[in-house]
Order: sequence, then structure tokens, then C-alpha cells
Amino acid sequence: MRRTAVDGVIIRGGNLVVAKRLIPPYKGTLTFPGGHIEEQESAEDALYREIKEETGLDAKIIRGIGVYSQPSRDPRHIISYAFLCFADGELESSNEGAVRWEEIHSLLKRKFGFDHGQLLIDAVNALVHLYIDEMLYRAITERAPVITTSKGEEPFHKLLFIALSARTKDNKTGEALEKLIAKFPTPSKLARASPKEVESLLYGVGFHRQKARNIIELAKIIAKEGMPTTYDELVELPGVGPKTAKVFLAEVIGEPTIGVDTHVHRVSNRLSLVSTKTPAETAKALSFLDDSNKRRLNLAFVGYGQTICKPRNPLCSSCKLSRYCHYSYKNKTGYWKSG
Ligand code: SF4
Repeated sequence: MRRTAVDGVIIRGGNLVVAKRLIPPYKGTLTFPGGHIEEQESAEDALYREIKEETGLDAKIIRGIGVYSQPSRDPRHIISYAFLCFADGELESSNEGAVRWEEIHSLLKRKFGFDHGQLLIDAVNALVHLYIDEMLYRAITERAPVITTSKGEEPFHKLLFIALSARTKDNKTGEALEKLIAKFPTPSKLARASPKEVESLLYGVGFHRQKARNIIELAKIIAKEGMPTTYDELVELPGVGPKTAKVFLAEVIGEPTIGVDTHVHRVSNRLSLVSTKTPAETAKALSFLDDSNKRRLNLAFVGYGQTICKPRNPLCSSCKLSRYCHYSYKNKTGYWKSG
């Protein structure tokens, strides 16, 4: 019978606990804390005991990550149950490993012992699922502007929304789009509109004159050739850049692609998922995310970035992600506010 073990990926303020192993197997490599499940012990109790022994921390399970059972994963053929945890207390090394906190984006570039490189990817994906769920839940319950991105049943209306939303708050874009599609609901009707008329309907949207001309030209092409469904077709349209194309593919076509704007870029950096200077670098650094996260990330992070995790004075005190967030930890806001 194969033995069973537990592993814990502990998140706190954008950092994870890793240990440099001082004993074989995989001596000298980075691993996550964990160990055997004893007879008469539950997996949860084993996890809390092992984390306490190896790190000095008092852990609390956030959610399960997965089961790791490839016989080649460990020379002792151990099957491991892995959990994502939060933990209180001071970090303390044991004779099994030297433990430390390290930021998520930094760990994503490191090599690990056992199959803990895969465990890290799975853990961060589980974490991002949790972030997206919380952001979307908050958007729905507080009716934040993020829900307006689904306004307009037609893919054409959604493309207009995404194209108009650059440098404009979603509620302003939603209001303008409603007026626009009430008057010009189809590509062929918009294609015949005058720029002056469209401009007046888009008043309040950033760069409304340029956008009015772009969407009329865009409507002419779609009226003639039909809705685009590929990246190459989309970026050929007037006013549709790589970001607009990717957001459309993710949210309308359902392709696993990430549209990264300044909000996605900022929130991803604050949560320590990446450490990047530009949205293009962020898109590349987030390519490890699974398809479900890629499809939903833009919708969730943009809405959250506009309403809660704003560029200035983010609302950390009301943010449920604060205990996991590096910005909050570093700047002592929200959960990490002293006193
Ligand atoms: S609002 Fe504050 S705590 Fe929440 S994700 Fe943004 S920076 Fe972090």
C-alpha cells in the first residue's frame, strides 16, 4: 500500500512559504511544507501538524488544490493531498528545511523538488479562481459597473462596448451604448449613420469623435463581411487593437486569451502575480493561468480595478483579498493596517 502525505501552499500578503530542503530526497531543492499522514490522523490534522513543525505557523485551510499521485513524483512513491492555506505566526525553520517567505511572481521563475513546480502553478491558479470569484461576487451584489460589460446580447453590441470602453468608465460606456443601439441596433443601420449623430450619442465617452468615426467604419465592414471571429480579423477593424481583440475573444467567443489593460496590469502587480512594467509584459507573465482563469480574468480584474482596487487610494479596508495582497501587506492597509 502506498503511503499518503499532505502539502501546504501558504499565502500571506502576496508571499508564499517555501523551504530549502536540508534532508534527502531532493536535498537542497525548494519545496512546500508537508509530510506524512499518521495512522488515526485526518489529512487536515496532518497538514496543521506538519506546517507547525516545519514552519512554526498556525495554518488555516482556504481550499484544496489537488491530489498528486504519479509514482515518479517521489522515490518513496508517496501520494500527496495538497491544500492552499493562510497562516498566522512567526516563521521558524526546522531541521528538515530552511523556510522563508517569497513573492509569488518570483517563485514562478524558480525550480522545485518533487512535483512542487506543478503544485505551485496549480496553487496560484486556485488562488486566482478565488480572486475572480470574489471580484465577480462583489460586482454582482453591489451592482458595480463590471456587470455592464455584458450589456447588449448581440456580439456586435459587445464589440462596440469593448471598443468604446477604452479610457472611459464602464458605466459611462454602458449609458452611451444604450443610446447608440436604441437608434442604430444593427451593423447596417450604424454603417449609414452620420458621424455628427453618432458623436452626439457618444458624448461622455473618452475620444468620442474619433471613436464615432471608427465604429461607423467598423459597422460598414461587419455589415458587408459578417462578425469577425479570429484575432487577425478583429485587429483589421478600425479602432480595434490587440487588447480589444483579446477581450472580445475571451468574453464573447470564449477563447482562453487574456486582455490586459491598465487595470488588469495594476491589480495583477498588486496581488504579486507578476512584477512587470507594461500590460504587454503582464499578459506574457500571466500565460501560465488555466483556460478558465484566462477567460474570466479581464472581466473580473477590470471591474475591480475601476471600483475597488483603484489607481489611487484603493479601498483595501473593504477588500476581502487584503490578507493575500502584497500591496496591502507592504503599505499596511486593510487587513495589515496596524492598530
Ligand atoms: S483593493 Fe487593496 S487589498 Fe484589495 S487587491 Fe487592491 S490593493 Fe489589494
